[in-house]
Amino acid sequence: MRMNGFKEVPEAVGKFAFENYPDYPSWRAAALPELKRLLGFDRLERLERKPVVPESLWKRRTPLGTIEKLRFSPEEGEEACIYICLPELPPPYKTFICLQGHSTGMHNSIAVEWQDETVPKAIEGDRDFAIGCLKRGIAAVCLEQRYMGERSSDPEHHPACLLPTLQNLMIGRTAIGDRVYDVDRLIDYLYTRGDIDRTRLGVMGNSGGGTTGMFAGAVLDRITHVIASCSFSSFRGSIGSMFHCACNYVPGLLEYGESADVVGLTAPKPVVIVNGDADEIFPLDEADRQFRRLEAVYRAAGAAGNCVHAVGGGGHRFYAAEAWSAMLPFFQ
Ligand SMILES: [Zn+2]
Repeated sequence: MRMNGFKEVPEAVGKFAFENYPDYPSWRAAALPELKRLLGFDRLERLERKPVVPESLWKRRTPLGTIEKLRFSPEEGEEACIYICLPELPPPYKTFICLQGHSTGMHNSIAVEWQDETVPKAIEGDRDFAIGCLKRGIAAVCLEQRYMGERSSDPEHHPACLLPTLQNLMIGRTAIGDRVYDVDRLIDYLYTRGDIDRTRLGVMGNSGGGTTGMFAGAVLDRITHVIASCSFSSFRGSIGSMFHCACNYVPGLLEYGESADVVGLTAPKPVVIVNGDADEIFPLDEADRQFRRLEAVYRAAGAAGNCVHAVGGGGHRFYAAEAWSAMLPFFQ
């Protein structure tokens, strides 16, 4: 919908576009610090990192494995919650951190109702990420994203993204930076457990979860694999061309580059980009163009086969069969 004040977003200036650099190492050395700065992640990295000591809220066995809910503090004054879902296998566990998009929250990942986690719920669009992981013998750690779900004041009607996004503008932070930092702090905790396979520690998400997954894979060295669904297009052709939630916007991002210049920082780690061919808010034609640039980045990084484009037939949702068949060869 076009609104008063709508601007045609100009072609990206892209000072940190991959093509401006002679090789992958020199590009990454320049681009990664700049992306961290734009996200406000450099500020978060300088915060005191107190040990993450979660509190267990409940734990139960299910036919697919054990699910435990815990609460932890990623930074002072902030509380996050997670489900740790472990298959009936001996550790160390191959693991995916699972991120939902704008919705009532992480309860979707374990296929239960948001107001009562004991009541099963059928989940549309393959968004029951933890169930999909457990069925494949993979542990799932479902993180409630900041300002969404249980971390929103009114999860049923709208996420609480707008106000903190505006406040963040005044202090040089961003919602995406905050969310990536929560993933980083969660990994601090996972590394203390002793039962997580550090060589198979992926992040996956759809929509607003895929967005965090894309940036987390780019910024966080400890993430080893990425599945980003219905979040990859061009920035200009998706969030720059139509209404999206405020939390998607990073000041100065188009001066930095485009989506391939973010996800390219993930190389050489395996990344699966998932799109729906009829997803109107993350258009496939723009995704195709950026994916071709992403392939060039991966070739330059000596990892040509490690980025895969999985396209599902339909709209804005996750495509589990397509995504997993692309990821499992890297993950098993
Ligand atoms: Zn939002």
